[in-house]
Amino acid sequence: MKRVAVFCGSSEGSDPIYMEQARKLGALLADKGIGLVYGGAQVGCMGAVADACLEAGGEVIGVIPEKLMNVEIAHSGLTEQHIVKTMHERKAMMADLSDAFIALPGGAGTLEEWFEVFTWSQLGYHHKPCSFLNVNNFYDPLLQMLEHTIEQGFMRPAYQELIITENSAEELLEKLHQFQPLELSKWGN
Ligand code: AMP
Repeated sequence: MKRVAVFCGSSEGSDPIYMEQARKLGALLADKGIGLVYGGAQVGCMGAVADACLEAGGEVIGVIPEKLMNVEIAHSGLTEQHIVKTMHERKAMMADLSDAFIALPGGAGTLEEWFEVFTWSQLGYHHKPCSFLNVNNFYDPLLQMLEHTIEQGFMRPAYQELIITENSAEELLEKLHQFQPLELSKWGN
């Protein structure tokens, strides 16, 4: 695992634990020699994960659309910052550059990014692990919704194995290392 994409809030969240754990993950990635790919912003948890990774000597690659450079305040101290035209290009480049995906707590943008890579995984467009770092049990309601989706017959139970969830960053990285892709695709071939 050379590089991991981290999706997370452009906000700080209401509890200091969100920024703390974003920093912790950034520093841990640097310690493990794993590069960070993220949305290139200086704000909120996004800025926290990037700053901590850089401070610990890690590689940080940002991918930011030009329209958002001012709003999200493009980070100027990254190893590499890619400025792209659209949100679609941003997500595609982040996915291409990464070997695994982690969502920290965040808003609709974070969820959208995570669900896109997860649905690509279900469809067999890639075989990279998709995970939640479940800080403060933030993702419990979403995990319940996914269980409900399975119970109601809208998602195969096997796809639950594609979703890795951990409360500790150390254990999450370990699980990402051990991940084995499923053999079946959404349409059973
Ligand atoms: P949020 O979780 O809403 O704070 O957003 C986190 C990051 O996701 C920000 O950098 C947003 O610009 C980004 N984002 C929001 N919507 C999208 C989208 N449709 N495609 C790509 N990135 C997005």
